[in-house]
Amino acid sequence: MNIYDFQKKWRKPLFWIGVFFCLSCLFMEILIFIIPQFRMQIKCTDDVYRFRYILIPTILNVSAVLVAFIMIRSSRVSQRLKNYSICGMLLVICMVIQIFHGIYASVLSLPSLAIFISAVFAENRLTYTITVISLISTLTSYIVGHKFFDESDIFISNYIIASAIIIIAYFCSNLLLRFIYSQLHTVKKGHTNEERLINKMRLDPLTGLYNRGGMDSIMDELIKNYDPEHALYLLMIDIDNFKSVNDTYGHQNGDTVLRTLAQVILDMGRKDIIPCRYGGEEVCVMFRNMDIDDAIRKSNKILSDFRNVRYDFSGDHSITFSAGFVQYEPKYTKDEWIKIADTRLYFAKQNGKNRVISIPVEETTQII
Ligand code: GH3
Ligand code: MG
Ligand code: MG
Repeated sequence: MNIYDFQKKWRKPLFWIGVFFCLSCLFMEILIFIIPQFRMQIKCTDDVYRFRYILIPTILNVSAVLVAFIMIRSSRVSQRLKNYSICGMLLVICMVIQIFHGIYASVLSLPSLAIFISAVFAENRLTYTITVISLISTLTSYIVGHKFFDESDIFISNYIIASAIIIIAYFCSNLLLRFIYSQLHTVKKGHTNEERLINKMRLDPLTGLYNRGGMDSIMDELIKNYDPEHALYLLMIDIDNFKSVNDTYGHQNGDTVLRTLAQVILDMGRKDIIPCRYGGEEVCVMFRNMDIDDAIRKSNKILSDFRNVRYDFSGDHSITFSAGFVQYEPKYTKDEWIKIADTRLYFAKQNGKNRVISIPVEETTQII
């Protein structure tokens, strides 16, 4: 899981926390409005209360939630902006309470919540931005309370305490952020090691090609994601008279021939050509993202390049292979696909070796 998957996972629950927070604020304001003991603590007429504490905060909160909703659903918005929109939504809801109800330091320092939550996204700049906006909003809350609401019980000390709490929240979040980064780093390192190990397990030590296990999983993957626009081909190779190569020149030289075959295939390019050691001296090559003529041409080039290799131990004696080539069709299972290649390979062996058969065996009488 990379950092973006991690952030994506947290955006949704945080969005719903914002919605819940928004509804709770509305519920609390209505509760204060209808319960006389609470209502009498706020000195204003019912009309002013409805406007100042219910209508305006609800409009602001709902707008913040809607903007965040649109941003996180849009495919055109970057991951980073989505994170900003979630933290922005939570910050707006905190700021609305802070500005409209902030008298005591505890309420005035509410944006600290958004600062803490921003640490989830492990982005220092985001936490920093939220902190700066929180401090500006604390100052705004003081000005609004002082100048517009004309509240008598506004003490500057509460604003100073709230600002201090917000700054402390920033440093705590920063610490949390570093902790998250170190955890992510450890997880990533473990993941990379695991990936490296899995990749190593999928390789054949002699040739460096994928081994049978690797071939099976790659084939499954290619078949699962098959797209008719991007054809797949399979070439099944078996070295000719390899037993006699071993018997004549020794097994170590036989190994050299196998390694040479692997190198000839790898030299053709690694992006759309996937070679695997199927077994003993049989190699399967999968081709993708090319047309059939190109894939057959590449198959024949592998044969001619391999045939043209001259080995120190064998003088002028060239070593060849026979191969069966087949294009994948959705009606084939993996085994059927391999079986067709194998049948064509067998046919190549039966008819003189040193060739690639790429058409159905029934039709081969015309070319042999
Ligand atoms: P054909 O042309 O019909 O394929 O004849 P062949 O002699 O190649 O017959 P076959 O395919 O049955 O031969 C397989 C030989 O491959 C037998 C085995 O000794 C050899 N072999 C399999 N794996 C290795 C390997 O890793 N190294 C070496 N040196 N030889 C191997
Ligand atoms: Mg064989
Ligand atoms: Mg052979």
